[in-house]
Amino acid sequence: MLRLAVLGDPVAHSLSPRFQQAALDAAGLDGRYEAIRCPADALEARLAALAAAGYRGLNLTLPLKERAWALLAPRAAAIGDAAARLAAVNTLRLETDGRWRLDNTDLEGCRAAAESLLGAPLTGRRVLVLGAGGAGRAAVAACLDGGCDAVLLWNRSPERARALQRALAPDDARLAVHALVDGRCPGGVDLVIQATRLGLAADDPLPPLPAAGELPAALDLVTQSTAWQRACAAAGSRAADGREMLLAQGAASFRLWTGRDAPLAAMRTALFGAP
Ligand code: NAP
Repeated sequence: MLRLAVLGDPVAHSLSPRFQQAALDAAGLDGRYEAIRCPADALEARLAALAAAGYRGLNLTLPLKERAWALLAPRAAAIGDAAARLAAVNTLRLETDGRWRLDNTDLEGCRAAAESLLGAPLTGRRVLVLGAGGAGRAAVAACLDGGCDAVLLWNRSPERARALQRALAPDDARLAVHALVDGRCPGGVDLVIQATRLGLAADDPLPPLPAAGELPAALDLVTQSTAWQRACAAAGSRAADGREMLLAQGAASFRLWTGRDAPLAAMRTALFGAP
């Protein structure tokens, strides 16, 4: 049996088991995908135990992605390009020599979600990314890779945004750190990607709204409905939650674990409900 799991803390809310199990079943694979709680300080011991117990593929979510990079990169079997660029890992595959291969499918997932919402490639677009944590970093890389003309970056603590810029694309003039304007997003963008944690808790403050009088597409990486999505949609923007990104990153992980194309229709139905 192919044993797979997502590790995180908390992890009970994760939607990954729902659509990854559907993918295994639709592909006719004898496999099981579970959610396993794992605090950051338990990661090393837990990975060894899971490998010994026969697990062959893992997803990692908060707060483990950067921790896994620091822990495993020096002794990885192989490292995918995106994991190296983001210095963060969301997908592990156990190789025959007992070492883990490290990948990060969030970059690919974010680009797919952005292009799905826009209904067109990112090429030539101007995008504002809110947040400079792990998801913000993946979003910025996805926009630069996608050929955006400009990527504007805002973060609550501007120094973290500048650190992201220095680490990811110090010489790329398309990327610039911006301040808010009257508490709202800077204007003149086609798409705003909301990549802060805000919206995970019901009483969170609202992330910055698009510039007054402008209607950019609004992609929230939070995988549930949020007040920010509802406010953007009410103003007239096309708005979406983070499930499309989750689906695309999960499909890429499935390909890495199984060597097969992911059964997207079954995964989509499991995640979004029957059409
Ligand atoms: P992270 O690395 O911990 O970063 C958190 C971000 O949120 C930082 O930019 C932080 O700003 C900001 N933030 C936290 N509290 C804030 C506040 N009160 N006001 C303004 N900004 C605040 O987390 P992450 O891994 O980037 O995850 C961010 C979100 O993306 C989460 O909701 C996560 O679930 C989601 N996500 C979704 C997918 C998907 O597939 N849909 C994949 C990955 C992540 P400071 O730097 O100033 O603290």
